[in-house]
Parts: sequence; C-alpha cells; structure tokens
Amino acid sequence: MAVSMHIDIMTLFPDAVENMLRTSILGRAQERNIIRIECHQIRDYTTNKQKQVDDYPYGGGMGMIMQAQPLHACWKYLCDRSGYRVHTILMSPQGKTYHQEDAKRLSNLGRLILVCGHYEGVDERFIEECVDEEISIGDFVLTGGEIPAMAVADSVCRLVPGVLKDESCFTEESHWNGLLEYPQYSRPEIWEGRRVPEILLSGHHANIAKWRRRQSLKRTLLRRPDMLETARLSEQDLKLLDEIKAEIENEGKGEGLQ
Ligand code: SAM
Repeated sequence: MAVSMHIDIMTLFPDAVENMLRTSILGRAQERNIIRIECHQIRDYTTNKQKQVDDYPYGGGMGMIMQAQPLHACWKYLCDRSGYRVHTILMSPQGKTYHQEDAKRLSNLGRLILVCGHYEGVDERFIEECVDEEISIGDFVLTGGEIPAMAVADSVCRLVPGVLKDESCFTEESHWNGLLEYPQYSRPEIWEGRRVPEILLSGHHANIAKWRRRQSLKRTLLRRPDMLETARLSEQDLKLLDEIKAEIENEGKGEGLQ
C-alpha cells in the first residue's frame, strides 16, 4: 500500500530529528505505513574529503554559510528517487509565518522535502534553484531548522487520514475553524477543590455542544480577538458573542472563563 504522505528531511542532525518523529502517534502511523518520514544527512553529499558542508561568507561577516553543492546533490537525489520535482520547503526565519492553514494545504500534497538550515543560513543560489517556499515558525531565530522542520512534519502528518483516530480529533481543535478550543477536563470530578463544570457531567450532548461553542467563542474573544475578524461565524455565534461581551462588561473585567 502506498503511503499517503512522504516527507524527506534534509538535515545535519538526522538522528535527533528521526528519533523525535518516530515516537508516539507519528511513530505508530509510520509502522502502519500511512506516512513515511525519512531524514537525510546532507554531509553525505559533499564532494570534498573532509565532508565539509559550510564555508565563510563572501563579503566577510560572522559565521559560516551552508554551501549549495551538498544541499543541491541531496535534493537532486531525493527528486530523482521520487521521479519528479518534489515541493521543497526551506525552514527560515525570513519565510512566511506558518499557520494551521498551511498545514492543511501541505497535507494534501502527498510528498514534501523539508530543508533544515544551520549556522548563518544557506547559500542563496540553492534557494533560488531548488526551494519552492520558505517557512518561518515565528519571529525569533533558532540555531537550526530541525525544530521548525519537526513542527511542520508533525502538524502536517497528524492531518493525514488514518493518523489520528477520527477527523474530529483535529476539526474541533484550536485554529481549525478560526477559533480556540473550549477548556477540557478529565477525571477526577473534583481536584484540589476545583469542580468539573456541571454541564459536562450531564450526558446531554446538545447542551454540552452549545456550552463548548460558547466557551470557544469566549476564549477566542479574550485571548485572540484578532482571530474573530476572519473566523466563519453563524448568526447563532454572533448572538452568543454579543451575550458574552455583555457578560464581560457586567463582570467589569476581561477574565473568568467559566
Ligand atoms: N542568518 C539567518 C537570518 O538572519 O535570517 C538566520 C540563520 S539561523 C541562525 C540558522 C537556521 O535555523 C536557518 O537557516 C533556518 O533553517 C533555521 N531557523 C532559525 N530560526 C527559524 C525560524 N524562526 N523558523 C524557521 N527556521 C528557522
């Protein structure tokens, strides 16, 4: 059976990345052949005896730059093996900021190459020649692209059908439909004097669903009001939001998620 998602990760630290992505849910999905994540040592594609992958920047300056030659040789091997030019993403703090919508989009592509930069970054000519898009996981700088690549691979793979038990595992989660998720509770009913909200013990599914929607709207309003500007909201949601706003005004504070 062909895997539904195959991700090749080009990195100088394949063991670290592979170990992480082989655990838990993604590990089981790989065992079941639903997804495949392979890490490739860029160093193996050098043509020099020392297996050096980096060199000084032209024009001077601090740090080392990953050279185009081994990156290109590794990338070409992966594309030749796949039989076509695979969609290639460079992890970069200069890229477009990554969102759940990108995870959705990429999960439909079936095959990806993720390139992890290191040191001061990557020779621009490799980017021009081989990279289709650059992705940043936020406005901060890490030492390497391995953590961003793991974040992208994880968020993409968990959307592939069969990886999680049920679609609702992700369709009800934060960011799927433009809202944050409602608060969640597990056993026991009372912990350190704090009770689980009564409605969740009622067994009344319609009321629970309504309560959760309300909590979801309230959380988003309080924590990420910017998200409400683009969320797809029904008439009922807008009514609930008005109620929540009035309630918050009455409370005289922007807190209290119950
Ligand atoms: N000199 C680069 C710059 O100023 O844009 C930063 C290089 S950074 C130290 C080394 C590598 O880490 C990058 O090539 C990239 O692969 C990765 N990286 C660092 N921060 C990242 C972020 N926020 N998102 C994605 N990748 C990042």
